[in-house]
Amino acid sequence: MVIDKINAANKEIESPNLLKSTQIIIDEALTKLGYPKEVFELLKEPIRMLTVRIPVRMDDDSIKVFTGYRAQHNDAIGPTKGGIRFHPEITQDEVKALSIWMSLKAGIVDLPYGGGKGGIVCDPRVMSIRELERLSRGYVRAISQIVGPTKDIPAPDVFTNSQIMSWMMDEYSRIREFDSPGFITGKPIVLGGSQGRESSTAKGVVICIEEAAKKRGITIQGAKIAIQGFGNAGSYLAKFLYDSGAKIVGISDAYGALYDENGLDIPYLLDKRDSFGVVTKHFKNTITNKELLVLPCDILVPAAISNQITKENANQIKAKIIVEAANGPTTLEANNILTQKGILLVPDVLASAGGVTVSYFEWVQNNLGYYWSEKEVSEKLHKVMTEAFENVYSTAIKQNVNMRLAGYMIGVRKIAEASRFRGWI
Ligand code: GLU
Repeated sequence: MVIDKINAANKEIESPNLLKSTQIIIDEALTKLGYPKEVFELLKEPIRMLTVRIPVRMDDDSIKVFTGYRAQHNDAIGPTKGGIRFHPEITQDEVKALSIWMSLKAGIVDLPYGGGKGGIVCDPRVMSIRELERLSRGYVRAISQIVGPTKDIPAPDVFTNSQIMSWMMDEYSRIREFDSPGFITGKPIVLGGSQGRESSTAKGVVICIEEAAKKRGITIQGAKIAIQGFGNAGSYLAKFLYDSGAKIVGISDAYGALYDENGLDIPYLLDKRDSFGVVTKHFKNTITNKELLVLPCDILVPAAISNQITKENANQIKAKIIVEAANGPTTLEANNILTQKGILLVPDVLASAGGVTVSYFEWVQNNLGYYWSEKEVSEKLHKVMTEAFENVYSTAIKQNVNMRLAGYMIGVRKIAEASRFRGWI
């Protein structure tokens, strides 16, 4: 029953209009840059989209056939790169939109990649560990021809983790008959993972929060911050911000949210949280996720699912800064309302790019066969994220656009240039 409740709450995950909204902003960005229509025609959809059916023997000896996807948006700059999501509600259009966002992220943080994304329609919360292993290996066998260390490099995403990456890497290495750590990122350290990869998305978000706070004259120490979501990104974020002296006034999971205007006891909540990020069921006085978004706070961080800030609630938001740790938490209409209200919104394609940045470092280390310390990784990430932030922020000011459109302009320009040099357009 618990699962039904989570599913109902997550029903809205990545609704189909995500692809349409992304296409609208890409069109706007290309028009502003003066590119002809054929560039939009190339960039509006992935260049490659594979749908696979994966038969898996379940623990009760029955066979269940799962649907999986892998989208490759554009490989003009280099191999495509992006995570694999396990979710019961995932659709082909969402995977397409998510692959486009990966292209934009890579462009914004200046990585030599195009965007890719994968998904399997499944609910890992009701599957056994062995069923998950068989599904992960089956997926790699099904997509093996179009992926690889110099073609398309997967990584973790919603409900996938370093264990799943390990099985996938092992399966790929067996198929190719040589050890291929560079096939996938987000691996455990002992299998060629990078120091600092697990917390890298949250670290990237924290760097964006610090930079945005400086622009608005807000000090992190004592700042009131509300975080929607307590998964990988949300929980690390809460920890890092709490450790820097911020007051985390709200956090949430799929069931509800917790609020304390004097700041929540984050170490206690981290201790109580389960591996799917659920914590509020231990408490009686919860509020809803909707209420969390409009709480009085200085900084709001949506770190859960898409389409959370909409035209219905955008006007009630009290935060001065919004930093998007989740993919697509703000709708197109809401984005415009927030811009008009003068709220500084740091978009997902910039704020959540810390994960793929450290994935890139992991891939480089795999290719080199030489590994860096956590300090080295952290310094490199800091440099990449602060430069990317400054570039998007100053582009927004120069072009008189919001930071999302500025980010898109930076991202699409690179793909368009690379495609043009290759003679594609
Ligand atoms: N899934 C993460 C994202 O959406 C990371 C992708 C990667 O590391 O390649 O950015």
